[in-house]
Amino acid sequence: MATLFERVFKGSDEMYAKAEAAVAEVSKEYSDDTTCVFPDTAYYLPCLYSMTGKKINTLGMVKEGLAWCKEQMTREKRTHDIFTSGIATACAAEIIEACKYIDGKQPYDKSPLWGHCTDGEVRELGVPLVTGDIPGFVVLIGPAPSAEEAVEIVKSYQTKNIFVFLVGGIIDQVVSKGVKTGFGVRLVCEGYDLWSVSYVISVAVRAALIFGAITPGDYDGIRKYTFERINAMVNAYEPVDDMTVACGAGAISYGFPVVTNDDNDMWRVPRSLIVQKDTKQFVETSLEARGIKLKITNIDIPVNFANAFEGEIIRRGDMQIEADGSRVDCVELVRTKDASEVEDHKIELIGPDLDEFEVGKKICLATIVDVAGRKMQPDFESVIERKFHSYINCIEGVMHTGQRDMIRIRVSKSAFEAGFRAKHFGEVLYAKVKSEFDAVVDKCQVTIVTDPEKVHELRVAANETFDKRDERLLSLTDETVDEFYTCVMCQAFSPSHVCIVTPERLGLCGAVSWLDARATHELDPSGPCQVVPKTGVIDERTGRWESVNAAVEKYSRGALSSVSLYSIMEDPMTSCGCFECICGIEPMSNGVVIVNREHIGMTPLGMTFSEMASMTGGGVQTPGFMGHGKHFISSKKFMKAEGGVARIVWLPKALKEQVRDQLNATAKDLYGIDNFVDMIADETICEDPESLVEFLTKVGHPALSLDPLM
Ligand code: SF4
Ligand code: ZN
Repeated sequence: MATLFERVFKGSDEMYAKAEAAVAEVSKEYSDDTTCVFPDTAYYLPCLYSMTGKKINTLGMVKEGLAWCKEQMTREKRTHDIFTSGIATACAAEIIEACKYIDGKQPYDKSPLWGHCTDGEVRELGVPLVTGDIPGFVVLIGPAPSAEEAVEIVKSYQTKNIFVFLVGGIIDQVVSKGVKTGFGVRLVCEGYDLWSVSYVISVAVRAALIFGAITPGDYDGIRKYTFERINAMVNAYEPVDDMTVACGAGAISYGFPVVTNDDNDMWRVPRSLIVQKDTKQFVETSLEARGIKLKITNIDIPVNFANAFEGEIIRRGDMQIEADGSRVDCVELVRTKDASEVEDHKIELIGPDLDEFEVGKKICLATIVDVAGRKMQPDFESVIERKFHSYINCIEGVMHTGQRDMIRIRVSKSAFEAGFRAKHFGEVLYAKVKSEFDAVVDKCQVTIVTDPEKVHELRVAANETFDKRDERLLSLTDETVDEFYTCVMCQAFSPSHVCIVTPERLGLCGAVSWLDARATHELDPSGPCQVVPKTGVIDERTGRWESVNAAVEKYSRGALSSVSLYSIMEDPMTSCGCFECICGIEPMSNGVVIVNREHIGMTPLGMTFSEMASMTGGGVQTPGFMGHGKHFISSKKFMKAEGGVARIVWLPKALKEQVRDQLNATAKDLYGIDNFVDMIADETICEDPESLVEFLTKVGHPALSLDPLM
């Protein structure tokens, strides 16, 4: 019987031969200078780039990359080299896949095969990874023993919020059972061939480059990062061939344990290569091997509840009922009550239940959550309320969008058939509010109302509350509060990054407002959000305070000593990597270009989002580039030091529409300009600096007459 060493080297050789053949095949048709790179990434062939620092983007360079793989697949220093050879195997696998993208080809249509994940998608994982909403990743390779078992293991991981990648025959098993797949539901079908496993490694190593700011080519640094910070694991069903063994060695080298039912005494590696004969035990064995502890909230509902279902879409034809706030009365509200007025875990339905409506009906729906607690503050009502969206969306077969009285909820036929009824909204909200806000909510009761008249009354009353809250929010400015907050949640991946969250500058992920930070501090006083008293003003123009500098120095553990809150040029705030938008200066127009993660096209900077995003991150300051949240775009503190929002010269069209009203209002307030947003260019107007300046001149954009930025 072959030893583990022999099998790894044999598998490496096989993968190398496949890569060589793939390169030879495309070389028949394409010359060496043909583009050969993955789309929407600033990291070339990420596996190879991370390990070697080689910026491969043409077929000729791919050939050089292949030569590097060959060099690493040496048998000379046997014990050490199986892991290096394993990594080279993953890189060779990546080359096979890269060849499919030659000359801008799009080899996968995402239904179901996904292929390469973009940088935007990797960045999207930032927040859920740091909050523990995604506690880890798993790659399932195989067909499983049966389609039923395949679905079972996928669901089991999904309900534990583990992000699942599928490689091989298990894809068809899962798809044939009608399971929804895709990045949004955190179940990604990579490919039928083993080499598609390189896409998963690509996500892991880019996390190291993006969030950890590890230098490309820092071979040991990358492996240390993935080992310490990326909770990934591999489950491989028997029979496991030599190439899988070789890739497994690569996985182990990155710190990812491999669990398999392919029993072979020759090839156990303690804690890393684990034989588990009982495939039904894969999940438990894997979580234990990677040391993943789960926070479980038990919710008594007839369907699954997991973050994986947050991105699920329910089409019109699949829906049982719909609550649509744009057509009928709907509202969601959290009310602070006296403890005597709240009966804990009381869930009441007023009006008909879901089975009393005809299929496809638009129903009125009010969801009222009354809370009481000694430390509860009315300011936290909106913080809790905004979480409804995510809580309700996490129910399998239920979709939720919007907030307040502009919500839309769809309940699918399958959830309904499984027994999902109105009171289950209450069970979910009760369980989540009680577990996530336990420090402030002692008692919680939920009332679900479907009676149209009552919903109407509640909506009118709620709107008064919303108006009051909006007034309060407007009055919250950096000047009117006495304290800011830190957020260091992203340090799990970006060890020296600190966000300073102020009323007019939310965290760059877009998920943490000043009120959120305040609530987080209250919930967990020694947690990620610490109070920064606003003392020792140094410079109001750039937004510098002694206390802010001290906080940044303390929480970055000395990596950073000075930060200005309102400048992009002078000691700007650092970025971790999960920012919603990136802004960069555009010298010809004397302004800045902002692009959001979802926009994949070119910008007048000659860079895409991914390329701009790669200019900053990992908790370092990069004057001229800054990651930020969408809401910050219309803030009066946006680039205040450099003249404010008047510097914005280009935005993707979709983003422009999202920020239009608020940004117009800000420009009107600051400069008296009407309809400022119409002066900003977008991709339908230009994607190059010359046409940009031409457009700005035509509309008389204010940036042209501001002081030079550089
Ligand atoms: Fe990360 Fe900053 Fe968002 Fe906190 S506010 S989660 S540190 S990006
Ligand atoms: Zn982050």
